[in-house]
Amino acid sequence: MSKINVTIWNEFTHEKQNEYVKSIYPDGLHAAIKKHLDTDENLNVRLAALDDPHQGLPDDVLNSTDVLLWWGHMRHGDVSDDLVARIRRRIISEGMGFIPLHSAHASKIFCSVIGTDGALSWGDDQPEIVWNLLPSHPIASGIPDHFVLELEELYGEPFNIPQPDELVFASWFKNGNIFRSGCCFYRGLGKVFYFQPGHESCRSFHNPYVLKIISNAVYWTAPNKFGVNVPTSCPWIPSVTEKHGI
Ligand code: ZN
Repeated sequence: MSKINVTIWNEFTHEKQNEYVKSIYPDGLHAAIKKHLDTDENLNVRLAALDDPHQGLPDDVLNSTDVLLWWGHMRHGDVSDDLVARIRRRIISEGMGFIPLHSAHASKIFCSVIGTDGALSWGDDQPEIVWNLLPSHPIASGIPDHFVLELEELYGEPFNIPQPDELVFASWFKNGNIFRSGCCFYRGLGKVFYFQPGHESCRSFHNPYVLKIISNAVYWTAPNKFGVNVPTSCPWIPSVTEKHGI
């Protein structure tokens, strides 16, 4: 089995500007996720950040990425439209997997790929119960019927997304709000999994179930082998029909 190339992209700004956030994720929240994924020898994991050259994703990195994780919050607008177009093409036309995390619900690339603005209601940090709605789904493998996050930022419905193709997790927050917290979308040749936990001042990327769900999602969103070679136009149709005498 060839390794899956995973790139974890992080805006990587809160961790540099806020001492409390830095105490939770001293090397950035993307590094905490990498530390977990690095325990899997089938994954080849790289980090990328907004302030890196080419906003972290030059062609050679993006084009060799099988699955892209994305965390952004206060600098969505700084991501170049050119980069968004390149990522979108990699997902939809070439089958790259995409895992937007938490506040990536409002990122340019998530909205571009799903087709709505990803708006939601939100509130103070509080206890959250993540419920497993589809235990037979690959992303739910090894996850109990529910687990508790002691503190997460409240995200609530209505969540302005298209109906997910598969809804794997939904969450309840202590003040009564509910939220579709683990949503699968098929977009062209690509697969997308949006996952809600991961506020920068909470500890969710240290939670073993959150990390297990992310690694399951890496495998689920990884491109099928046929995907990357499907042409974007249809010059092959005559040869296929001739081959079969149609
Ligand atoms: Zn947040």
